Amino acid sequence: EAQPAPVVIIGTGLAGYGLAREFRKHDSDTPLLLITEDDGRAYSKPMLSTGYTKNADAAALTQSDAGTMAANLDASIWTMTRVQAVDTARKVLRLADRETEVHYTALVFATGASVIRPPLGGNALERVYSVNDLMDYDDFRTAMERLAVKRVAIIGGGLIGCEFANDLLNGGFEADVIDPLQHCLPTLLPEPCARALQAGLEAKGARFHFGPLVTEVNYPAGSTDTVQVSLSDGSMLDADIVVSAVGVRPNIELAKSAGIAVNRGIVTDRLLKTSAPDVYALGDCAEVEGHVLVYVAPLMAAARALGKTLAGEPTTVSYPAMPVTIKVPACPTVVAPPAEDAEGEWQFSLDGTNTQGEYRNEAGDLLGFALTGEATKQKMALQKQLPPIMA
Ligand code: FAD
Repeated sequence: EAQPAPVVIIGTGLAGYGLAREFRKHDSDTPLLLITEDDGRAYSKPMLSTGYTKNADAAALTQSDAGTMAANLDASIWTMTRVQAVDTARKVLRLADRETEVHYTALVFATGASVIRPPLGGNALERVYSVNDLMDYDDFRTAMERLAVKRVAIIGGGLIGCEFANDLLNGGFEADVIDPLQHCLPTLLPEPCARALQAGLEAKGARFHFGPLVTEVNYPAGSTDTVQVSLSDGSMLDADIVVSAVGVRPNIELAKSAGIAVNRGIVTDRLLKTSAPDVYALGDCAEVEGHVLVYVAPLMAAARALGKTLAGEPTTVSYPAMPVTIKVPACPTVVAPPAEDAEGEWQFSLDGTNTQGEYRNEAGDLLGFALTGEATKQKMALQKQLPPIMA
Protein backbone atom coordinates (compact mmCIF):
# COMPACT_ATOMS: atom_id res chain seq x y z
CA GLU A 1 0.00 0.00 0.00
CA ALA A 2 1.49 3.33 -1.06
CA GLN A 3 2.14 5.88 1.70
CA PRO A 4 0.32 9.19 1.29
CA ALA A 5 2.61 12.11 0.48
CA PRO A 6 3.92 13.79 3.64
CA VAL A 7 3.32 17.18 5.15
CA VAL A 8 6.60 18.92 4.32
CA ILE A 9 8.11 21.72 6.42
CA ILE A 10 11.04 23.68 4.96
CA GLY A 11 13.18 24.85 7.89
CA THR A 12 14.08 23.52 11.35
CA GLY A 13 14.32 26.76 13.31
CA LEU A 14 11.95 27.60 16.13
CA ALA A 15 9.15 27.94 13.56
CA GLY A 16 9.71 24.64 11.76
CA TYR A 17 10.31 22.54 14.88
CA GLY A 18 7.66 24.44 16.85
CA LEU A 19 5.08 23.69 14.17
CA ALA A 20 6.12 20.03 13.95
CA ARG A 21 5.58 19.65 17.72
CA GLU A 22 2.17 21.33 17.58
CA PHE A 23 1.11 19.25 14.55
CA ARG A 24 2.06 16.00 16.29
CA LYS A 25 -0.18 16.92 19.26
CA HIS A 26 -3.16 16.65 16.92
CA ASP A 27 -2.01 14.17 14.26
CA SER A 28 0.25 11.23 15.02
CA ASP A 29 -0.30 9.38 11.71
CA THR A 30 0.35 11.62 8.73
CA PRO A 31 3.93 11.29 7.48
CA LEU A 32 5.96 14.39 8.32
CA LEU A 33 9.15 15.51 6.57
CA LEU A 34 11.34 18.44 7.59
CA ILE A 35 14.03 19.69 5.20
CA THR A 36 16.79 22.07 6.25
CA GLU A 37 19.91 23.40 4.65
CA ASP A 38 21.62 23.55 8.05
CA ASP A 39 22.57 20.65 10.35
CA GLY A 40 19.12 20.44 11.93
CA ARG A 41 20.27 20.89 15.52
CA ALA A 42 17.46 22.23 17.71
CA TYR A 43 18.42 25.37 19.62
CA SER A 44 16.87 28.58 20.86
CA LYS A 45 18.11 31.37 18.61
CA PRO A 46 17.70 34.15 21.22
CA MET A 47 20.41 32.40 23.27
CA LEU A 48 23.01 33.26 20.60
CA SER A 49 23.31 36.76 22.06
CA THR A 50 23.75 35.60 25.67
CA GLY A 51 26.44 32.96 25.04
CA TYR A 52 29.33 34.66 26.83
CA THR A 53 27.15 35.77 29.73
CA LYS A 54 26.00 32.17 30.22
CA ASN A 55 29.35 30.70 29.24
CA ALA A 56 27.73 28.55 26.55
CA ASP A 57 29.37 27.61 23.26
CA ALA A 58 27.48 26.12 20.30
CA ALA A 59 27.59 22.61 21.73
CA ALA A 60 26.15 23.84 25.04
CA LEU A 61 23.34 25.66 23.20
CA THR A 62 22.36 22.52 21.27
CA GLN A 63 19.16 21.08 22.72
CA SER A 64 18.94 18.02 20.43
CA ASP A 65 20.55 16.80 17.23
CA ALA A 66 18.48 16.11 14.13
CA GLY A 67 18.33 12.35 14.77
CA THR A 68 16.86 12.83 18.22
CA MET A 69 14.37 15.38 16.88
CA ALA A 70 13.30 12.94 14.14
CA ALA A 71 12.66 10.22 16.72
CA ASN A 72 10.79 12.57 19.08
CA LEU A 73 8.61 13.96 16.30
CA ASP A 74 8.14 10.67 14.46
CA ALA A 75 9.31 12.55 11.37
CA SER A 76 11.95 12.33 8.68
CA ILE A 77 14.50 15.16 8.81
CA TRP A 78 16.78 15.81 5.88
CA THR A 79 19.70 18.02 6.87
CA MET A 80 22.21 19.92 4.70
CA THR A 81 19.55 19.80 2.00
CA ARG A 82 18.45 22.90 0.17
CA VAL A 83 15.02 23.12 -1.43
CA GLN A 84 15.70 24.56 -4.85
CA ALA A 85 12.27 24.90 -6.42
CA VAL A 86 8.59 24.30 -5.73
CA ASP A 87 5.99 23.32 -8.33
CA THR A 88 2.73 24.27 -6.63
CA ALA A 89 0.58 22.90 -9.47
CA ARG A 90 2.06 19.38 -9.26
CA LYS A 91 2.74 19.68 -5.51
CA VAL A 92 6.37 18.67 -5.73
CA LEU A 93 9.70 20.05 -4.49
CA ARG A 94 13.05 19.90 -6.19
CA LEU A 95 16.20 19.69 -4.09
CA ALA A 96 19.59 21.18 -4.89
CA ASP A 97 22.07 18.62 -6.27
CA ARG A 98 19.54 15.81 -6.40
CA GLU A 99 17.40 14.24 -9.10
CA THR A 100 14.51 13.01 -6.94
CA GLU A 101 11.30 14.97 -6.60
CA VAL A 102 9.49 15.18 -3.28
CA HIS A 103 5.69 15.12 -3.27
CA TYR A 104 3.72 16.91 -0.55
CA THR A 105 0.10 17.01 0.59
CA ALA A 106 0.74 20.29 2.40
CA LEU A 107 3.87 22.45 2.30
CA VAL A 108 5.03 24.94 4.94
CA PHE A 109 7.65 27.63 4.47
CA ALA A 110 9.52 28.16 7.76
CA THR A 111 12.58 29.48 5.95
CA GLY A 112 13.41 32.29 8.38
CA ALA A 113 15.29 35.48 7.57
CA SER A 114 18.81 36.17 6.38
CA VAL A 115 21.21 38.82 7.61
CA ILE A 116 21.54 41.93 5.54
CA ARG A 117 25.19 42.37 4.51
CA PRO A 118 26.27 46.00 4.43
CA PRO A 119 28.44 46.92 1.45
CA LEU A 120 32.01 46.90 2.79
CA GLY A 121 35.38 47.36 1.14
CA GLY A 122 38.83 46.44 2.34
CA ASN A 123 41.18 43.45 2.43
CA ALA A 124 40.11 41.99 5.79
CA LEU A 125 36.49 41.06 5.13
CA GLU A 126 37.24 37.53 6.37
CA ARG A 127 37.32 39.12 9.83
CA VAL A 128 33.67 40.24 9.51
CA TYR A 129 31.21 37.79 11.08
CA SER A 130 27.47 37.73 11.39
CA VAL A 131 25.69 35.46 13.85
CA ASN A 132 22.23 34.42 12.77
CA ASP A 133 22.19 30.69 13.45
CA LEU A 134 23.98 28.05 15.48
CA MET A 135 26.49 27.23 12.73
CA ASP A 136 27.42 30.94 12.43
CA TYR A 137 27.76 31.04 16.19
CA ASP A 138 30.10 28.04 16.17
CA ASP A 139 32.30 29.77 13.55
CA PHE A 140 32.26 33.02 15.53
CA ARG A 141 33.21 31.44 18.86
CA THR A 142 35.98 29.45 17.16
CA ALA A 143 37.34 32.64 15.54
CA MET A 144 37.17 34.54 18.85
CA GLU A 145 39.48 31.94 20.38
CA ARG A 146 41.77 31.41 17.41
CA LEU A 147 42.33 35.16 17.07
CA ALA A 148 42.65 35.69 20.85
CA VAL A 149 40.19 38.56 20.49
CA LYS A 150 40.21 41.43 22.95
CA ARG A 151 38.43 44.12 21.01
CA VAL A 152 35.25 43.75 18.91
CA ALA A 153 33.74 46.29 16.52
CA ILE A 154 29.98 45.84 16.08
CA ILE A 155 28.33 47.21 12.95
CA GLY A 156 24.77 48.18 13.87
CA GLY A 157 23.29 49.50 17.12
CA GLY A 158 19.96 47.74 16.80
CA LEU A 159 18.53 45.00 19.01
CA ILE A 160 21.05 42.35 17.99
CA GLY A 161 24.04 44.75 18.01
CA CYS A 162 23.25 46.02 21.51
CA GLU A 163 22.60 42.52 22.86
CA PHE A 164 25.94 41.34 21.47
CA ALA A 165 27.65 44.42 22.92
CA ASN A 166 26.34 43.60 26.40
CA ASP A 167 27.19 39.92 26.05
CA LEU A 168 30.73 40.59 24.82
CA LEU A 169 31.32 43.10 27.63
CA ASN A 170 30.15 40.43 30.07
CA GLY A 171 32.67 38.10 28.43
CA GLY A 172 35.47 40.54 29.21
CA PHE A 173 35.87 41.96 25.69
CA GLU A 174 35.92 45.59 24.57
CA ALA A 175 33.08 46.70 22.31
CA ASP A 176 32.70 49.56 19.84
CA VAL A 177 29.25 49.96 18.29
CA ILE A 178 28.89 51.91 15.03
CA ASP A 179 25.52 53.01 13.66
CA PRO A 180 24.68 55.63 10.99
CA LEU A 181 21.60 56.79 12.89
CA GLN A 182 21.62 58.96 16.00
CA HIS A 183 20.73 56.52 18.76
CA CYS A 184 20.51 52.79 19.39
CA LEU A 185 17.54 50.58 18.51
CA PRO A 186 16.30 53.39 16.24
CA THR A 187 13.43 51.37 14.80
CA LEU A 188 12.20 50.05 18.17
CA LEU A 189 12.96 52.57 20.93
CA PRO A 190 12.08 56.27 21.25
CA GLU A 191 15.19 58.37 21.87
CA PRO A 192 14.97 58.97 25.67
CA CYS A 193 14.71 55.23 26.33
CA ALA A 194 17.48 54.48 23.82
CA ARG A 195 19.74 57.00 25.62
CA ALA A 196 19.15 55.18 28.90
CA LEU A 197 20.09 51.86 27.32
CA GLN A 198 23.17 53.49 25.78
CA ALA A 199 24.19 54.93 29.16
CA GLY A 200 23.84 51.51 30.77
CA LEU A 201 26.12 49.95 28.17
CA GLU A 202 28.59 52.84 28.34
CA ALA A 203 28.83 52.40 32.10
CA LYS A 204 30.02 48.86 31.35
CA GLY A 205 32.60 50.19 28.89
CA ALA A 206 30.86 50.19 25.50
CA ARG A 207 31.82 52.94 23.04
CA PHE A 208 29.12 54.16 20.63
CA HIS A 209 29.81 55.89 17.32
CA PHE A 210 26.58 57.35 15.95
CA GLY A 211 26.38 58.98 12.52
CA PRO A 212 28.98 57.32 10.32
CA LEU A 213 28.76 54.15 8.22
CA VAL A 214 31.47 51.51 8.30
CA THR A 215 33.09 51.66 4.87
CA GLU A 216 36.13 49.37 4.98
CA VAL A 217 37.84 46.73 7.09
CA ASN A 218 41.57 46.39 6.38
CA TYR A 219 44.67 44.81 7.80
CA PRO A 220 47.24 47.45 8.68
CA ALA A 221 50.31 47.39 6.42
CA GLY A 222 52.49 44.38 7.09
CA SER A 223 50.31 42.73 9.77
CA THR A 224 47.26 40.49 10.08
CA ASP A 225 47.09 40.64 13.87
CA THR A 226 44.37 43.27 14.08
CA VAL A 227 42.09 45.12 11.67
CA GLN A 228 41.36 48.76 11.07
CA VAL A 229 37.72 49.68 10.69
CA SER A 230 37.22 52.79 8.53
CA LEU A 231 34.18 54.98 9.10
CA SER A 232 32.57 57.35 6.60
CA ASP A 233 33.49 60.38 8.75
CA GLY A 234 37.15 59.63 8.13
CA SER A 235 37.85 58.15 11.54
CA MET A 236 39.33 54.72 12.15
CA LEU A 237 38.92 52.12 14.90
CA ASP A 238 41.20 49.22 15.79
CA ALA A 239 39.61 45.84 16.42
CA ASP A 240 40.49 42.15 16.40
CA ILE A 241 37.20 41.05 14.86
CA VAL A 242 34.08 42.69 13.42
CA VAL A 243 30.49 41.59 14.03
CA SER A 244 27.93 42.76 11.48
CA ALA A 245 24.41 43.14 12.90
CA VAL A 246 22.51 45.50 10.63
CA GLY A 247 19.26 43.55 10.47
CA VAL A 248 17.54 40.64 8.75
CA ARG A 249 15.38 40.22 5.68
CA PRO A 250 12.71 37.48 5.31
CA ASN A 251 13.73 34.63 3.00
CA ILE A 252 11.13 34.94 0.26
CA GLU A 253 13.08 34.05 -2.90
CA LEU A 254 12.10 30.37 -3.04
CA ALA A 255 8.41 31.22 -2.62
CA LYS A 256 8.64 34.07 -5.10
CA SER A 257 10.25 31.90 -7.77
CA ALA A 258 7.39 29.42 -7.28
CA GLY A 259 4.91 32.18 -8.14
CA ILE A 260 3.66 32.53 -4.56
CA ALA A 261 2.63 36.06 -3.53
CA VAL A 262 5.33 37.88 -1.56
CA ASN A 263 5.67 41.40 -0.22
CA ARG A 264 8.17 42.10 2.60
CA GLY A 265 7.55 38.46 3.63
CA ILE A 266 5.66 35.53 2.16
CA VAL A 267 2.09 36.82 2.17
CA THR A 268 -0.42 34.81 4.21
CA ASP A 269 -3.90 35.19 5.59
CA ARG A 270 -4.77 34.44 9.20
CA LEU A 271 -4.85 30.71 8.48
CA LEU A 272 -1.17 31.16 7.51
CA LYS A 273 -2.21 30.16 3.97
CA THR A 274 -0.23 31.57 1.06
CA SER A 275 -1.60 32.30 -2.42
CA ALA A 276 -0.87 28.69 -3.52
CA PRO A 277 -3.14 25.77 -2.62
CA ASP A 278 -2.04 23.81 0.49
CA VAL A 279 1.05 26.00 0.94
CA TYR A 280 1.54 27.84 4.25
CA ALA A 281 4.19 30.05 5.88
CA LEU A 282 5.11 31.08 9.43
CA GLY A 283 8.00 32.55 11.39
CA ASP A 284 10.52 35.15 10.23
CA CYS A 285 9.76 34.49 6.54
CA ALA A 286 6.03 35.19 6.80
CA GLU A 287 3.93 38.32 6.44
CA VAL A 288 0.69 37.52 8.23
CA GLU A 289 -2.04 39.96 7.17
CA GLY A 290 0.60 42.66 6.77
CA HIS A 291 2.58 41.85 9.93
CA VAL A 292 6.24 40.88 9.62
CA LEU A 293 7.25 40.14 13.22
CA VAL A 294 10.68 38.54 13.56
CA TYR A 295 10.26 37.38 17.16
CA VAL A 296 9.53 34.14 18.97
CA ALA A 297 6.12 34.89 20.51
CA PRO A 298 4.35 35.46 17.16
CA LEU A 299 5.82 32.34 15.60
CA MET A 300 4.67 30.25 18.58
CA ALA A 301 1.13 31.61 18.22
CA ALA A 302 1.28 30.81 14.51
CA ALA A 303 2.62 27.28 15.17
CA ARG A 304 -0.25 26.51 17.56
CA ALA A 305 -2.87 27.60 15.02
CA LEU A 306 -1.23 26.00 11.99
CA GLY A 307 -0.62 22.74 13.85
CA LYS A 308 -4.41 22.42 14.19
CA THR A 309 -5.13 23.57 10.65
CA LEU A 310 -2.79 20.98 9.15
CA ALA A 311 -4.46 18.31 11.30
CA GLY A 312 -7.82 19.14 9.72
CA GLU A 313 -9.20 21.77 12.09
CA PRO A 314 -8.85 25.16 10.33
CA THR A 315 -7.71 27.66 12.99
CA THR A 316 -6.87 31.33 12.52
CA VAL A 317 -4.01 32.97 14.39
CA SER A 318 -4.48 35.94 16.73
CA TYR A 319 -1.65 38.12 17.97
CA PRO A 320 -2.12 39.63 21.42
CA ALA A 321 0.12 42.54 22.47
CA MET A 322 3.61 41.02 22.56
CA PRO A 323 6.21 43.29 24.21
CA VAL A 324 9.82 42.56 23.25
CA THR A 325 12.41 42.18 26.01
CA ILE A 326 15.84 43.46 24.98
CA LYS A 327 18.49 41.24 26.55
CA VAL A 328 20.69 44.10 27.77
CA PRO A 329 21.04 43.50 31.52
CA ALA A 330 23.21 46.65 31.72
CA CYS A 331 19.87 48.44 31.33
CA PRO A 332 16.82 46.15 31.31
CA THR A 333 14.53 47.25 28.48
CA VAL A 334 11.06 46.22 27.30
CA VAL A 335 9.29 47.71 24.33
CA ALA A 336 5.85 47.30 22.76
CA PRO A 337 6.15 49.44 19.65
CA PRO A 338 2.95 51.12 18.46
CA ALA A 339 1.51 49.83 15.16
CA GLU A 340 3.02 51.41 12.05
CA ASP A 341 -0.20 53.26 11.28
CA ALA A 342 -0.97 54.24 14.90
CA GLU A 343 -1.71 57.92 15.51
CA GLY A 344 -0.59 59.26 18.83
CA GLU A 345 2.27 60.78 20.77
CA TRP A 346 4.99 59.66 23.14
CA GLN A 347 4.99 60.96 26.70
CA PHE A 348 7.91 60.27 28.99
CA SER A 349 8.72 60.17 32.64
CA LEU A 350 12.48 60.13 33.00
CA ASP A 351 14.67 59.43 36.02
CA GLY A 352 18.26 58.67 35.02
CA THR A 353 18.35 55.27 33.34
CA ASN A 354 14.78 54.55 34.50
CA THR A 355 12.57 55.73 31.67
CA GLN A 356 8.91 55.15 30.97
CA GLY A 357 7.58 56.09 27.55
CA GLU A 358 3.87 55.74 26.83
CA TYR A 359 2.42 56.17 23.38
CA ARG A 360 -1.20 57.33 23.56
CA ASN A 361 -3.79 58.56 21.06
CA GLU A 362 -5.93 61.67 21.51
CA ALA A 363 -8.54 59.72 23.45
CA GLY A 364 -5.82 58.68 25.90
CA ASP A 365 -5.71 55.01 24.90
CA LEU A 366 -2.34 53.32 25.36
CA LEU A 367 -1.04 52.11 21.97
CA GLY A 368 2.57 51.28 22.84
CA PHE A 369 5.24 51.64 25.50
CA ALA A 370 8.98 51.57 26.10
CA LEU A 371 10.46 50.96 29.54
CA THR A 372 14.02 50.89 30.88
CA GLY A 373 15.61 50.18 34.25
CA GLU A 374 13.25 50.17 37.22
CA ALA A 375 10.36 51.18 34.97
CA THR A 376 10.35 47.69 33.40
CA LYS A 377 8.38 46.68 36.52
CA GLN A 378 5.39 48.41 34.89
CA LYS A 379 5.40 45.96 32.01
CA MET A 380 2.54 43.71 33.11
CA ALA A 381 0.27 46.56 34.14
CA LEU A 382 0.80 48.41 30.85
CA GLN A 383 0.64 45.29 28.69
CA LYS A 384 -2.91 44.65 29.92
CA GLN A 385 -3.98 48.04 28.58
CA LEU A 386 -2.60 47.51 25.07
CA PRO A 387 -4.81 46.58 22.13
CA PRO A 388 -4.00 43.23 20.45
CA ILE A 389 -1.71 43.41 17.40
CA MET A 390 -4.21 41.29 15.45
CA ALA A 391 -7.43 40.59 17.33
P1 FAD B 1 15.23 30.38 11.42
O1 FAD B 1 15.63 29.98 12.78
O2 FAD B 1 16.13 31.32 10.68
O3 FAD B 1 15.09 29.04 10.59
C1 FAD B 1 15.07 29.00 9.19
C2 FAD B 1 15.26 27.58 8.72
O4 FAD B 1 14.99 27.50 7.32
C3 FAD B 1 16.66 27.04 8.90
O5 FAD B 1 16.56 25.70 9.37
C4 FAD B 1 17.24 27.05 7.49
O6 FAD B 1 18.22 26.05 7.29
C5 FAD B 1 15.99 26.74 6.68
N1 FAD B 1 15.97 27.12 5.26
C6 FAD B 1 15.87 28.36 4.72
N2 FAD B 1 15.82 28.30 3.38
C7 FAD B 1 15.88 26.98 3.06
C8 FAD B 1 15.86 26.25 1.82
N3 FAD B 1 15.74 26.86 0.65
N4 FAD B 1 15.95 24.89 1.87
C9 FAD B 1 16.07 24.26 3.07
N5 FAD B 1 16.07 24.89 4.25
C10 FAD B 1 15.98 26.23 4.24
N6 FAD B 1 13.29 36.95 19.29
C11 FAD B 1 12.64 37.11 20.47
O7 FAD B 1 11.41 37.02 20.48
N7 FAD B 1 13.30 37.37 21.64
C12 FAD B 1 14.66 37.47 21.67
O8 FAD B 1 15.24 37.72 22.73
C13 FAD B 1 15.39 37.30 20.46
N8 FAD B 1 16.74 37.35 20.45
C14 FAD B 1 17.41 37.13 19.29
C15 FAD B 1 18.81 37.13 19.29
C16 FAD B 1 19.53 36.89 18.13
C17 FAD B 1 21.03 36.91 18.16
C18 FAD B 1 18.84 36.65 16.91
C19 FAD B 1 19.61 36.41 15.63
C20 FAD B 1 17.45 36.65 16.88
C21 FAD B 1 16.73 36.87 18.06
N9 FAD B 1 15.32 36.83 18.08
C22 FAD B 1 14.66 37.03 19.27
C23 FAD B 1 14.54 36.50 16.86
C24 FAD B 1 14.14 35.02 16.87
O9 FAD B 1 15.24 34.25 17.25
C25 FAD B 1 13.63 34.63 15.49
O10 FAD B 1 12.44 35.36 15.26
C26 FAD B 1 13.31 33.14 15.34
O11 FAD B 1 14.35 32.32 15.84
C27 FAD B 1 13.03 32.79 13.87
O12 FAD B 1 12.80 31.42 13.70
P2 FAD B 1 12.47 30.80 12.28
O13 FAD B 1 12.28 29.35 12.51
O14 FAD B 1 11.39 31.59 11.62
O15 FAD B 1 13.79 31.05 11.39
